[in-house]
Amino acid sequence: MAGSTHTVTNQAPPLTGYDVFAADRALTEAVERHLAAELREEAVAELSGTGRGCGAPQTQEWGAQADAHPPVLRTHDRYGRRVDEVDFHPAWHRLLGKGVSAGLTDARSRPGGHVRRAAGFVLWTQVEAGVCGPLSTTHAAVPALRADPELAAEWEPRLTSRVYDRGLRPARLKAGVLFGTGLTEKQGGSDLRANTTSARPLAEDGTYELTGHKWFCSAPMSDGFLVLARAPGGPTCFLVPRVLADGTRNVFLIQRLKDKLGNRSNASAEVEFAGTWARRVGEEGSGAAVVAGTAAATRLDRVLGSAGLMRQAVARAVHHCAHREAFGGKLADKPLMRNVLADLALESEAATTLGMRLAAACDAAEAG
Ligand SMILES: Cc1cc2nc3c(=O)[nH]c(=O)nc-3n(C[C@H](O)[C@H](O)[C@H](O)COP(=O)(O)OP(=O)(O)OC[C@H]3O[C@@H](n4cnc5c(N)ncnc54)[C@H](O)[C@@H]3O)c2cc1C
Repeated sequence: MAGSTHTVTNQAPPLTGYDVFAADRALTEAVERHLAAELREEAVAELSGTGRGCGAPQTQEWGAQADAHPPVLRTHDRYGRRVDEVDFHPAWHRLLGKGVSAGLTDARSRPGGHVRRAAGFVLWTQVEAGVCGPLSTTHAAVPALRADPELAAEWEPRLTSRVYDRGLRPARLKAGVLFGTGLTEKQGGSDLRANTTSARPLAEDGTYELTGHKWFCSAPMSDGFLVLARAPGGPTCFLVPRVLADGTRNVFLIQRLKDKLGNRSNASAEVEFAGTWARRVGEEGSGAAVVAGTAAATRLDRVLGSAGLMRQAVARAVHHCAHREAFGGKLADKPLMRNVLADLALESEAATTLGMRLAAACDAAEAG
C-alpha cells in the first residue's frame, strides 16, 4: 500500500492559523508606543484582522502559489500585435487585492497612518514579499506627485484607494490604481545623472514624448509610472500612464522580465520608450528633488520588508525548534540552540523597532 513504508514523526506541524500581529511582541509594543492613546484600540483591532489574515492557511497557500508561478511576459498577441502584458497567477491578484484593501498603499489619510501602514507592511511581507513591491511603489508615488498639486488632486485618491481595480483601462474609469517606478538605466544604475532617456516637449501644457530605455522598471502592469528623463531644462520627473485618456495604449515596450534571485513573484521589467506620452511632474531640471520623497518612502519599505522577513525567519525557527526533538529533547531546550534563537530574535526585534521608529518619524514630519 502507498505510504506504508514508514510513519512520519518528529516533524513540526505547519505554522498556520494564528494572528501574526498579536504573536509579534516587538511589533505590538511599537504600535502601542508610537500611536496616540485614542488611536490604539482601533489600530490594534485592524492590525489583528490583518495578522489573522496573514496567518490563515488560505493566504499562506496563495503566497506559496504566487512564489511558485512567476509572472510571464506576453509581448504580442497571437496575430502579431504588441500587447506588452504580464500574466500573473490568480494567487498573486488575490494577495495584491488583500494588500490594497488592508490600506498598504495609504499612509497619509489618517493620524498615525505611517505607523499603522508600517506594521501592516511588516505583516504582509511575511505572506509573500513580492506582492509588497507594487504596494510599495504605489504608496511611494504620492510625495512625487505632490510636486504638482493638480496631478496630486487627480491621482492621489486613486493611489490610496482600498480597491484593487485590475486591468489596463484609462485611470479615470478605475476605482483604484497602481504605480511603478522607472529610474534606473543600464549605463548608470544608482547614478541617475548618467541617464540618457530624453523628453521632448509636445506643447506648453506639460506634455512630452519620451525616447529611451529603462533597465529596471517595477510592476509593469501598473496604471502609471514615475519616470526620470532628460528634458531641455535637465533631468525631470514624468508621469507615464500605461493607457491614455482616450483609451488607447501608450507606447510601453516591455523587452523582457528580470530573472531575479528573490522577489520572484513580482514582475520587474526592461522597458523601451519610443514616442511615449508623458506628463511632467514639477519643473524641468527638478527631477532628482521630485523623486527624493518617493525614493525615501521606498527605502523605508526596504527596512520594513527586511524586518518582516527576519521576523518570519525567527517565527519559523522557533516554531520548528519547539516541535523538533533531537538527542532526547526538544531543540528549543538545548542551550546552544537557545543561544542561536535568542540571537536571531534580538536582531529581528531590533530591525522591527528601528523600522517602526522611522515610520513614526514620517508621521511626526507630516504632522508638522
Ligand atoms: C528588487 C529590486 C527592485 C527594484 N526596483 C526598482 C524600481 O522600482 N525602479 C527603478 O528604477 N529601479 C529599481 N531597481 C533597480 C535599483 O534601483 C538599482 O539596482 C540600484 O539603483 C543600483 O544600481 P545598480 O544595480 O546598477 O548598481 P550600481 O549603481 O552600479 O552600484 C554597484 C555597487 O556600488 C555601490 N555604490 C553605488 N554608488 C556608490 C557610492 N556613491 N559610494 C559607494 N558605493 C556605491 C552600490 O551600493 C552597489 O553595491 C530595483 C532593484 C531591485 C533589486
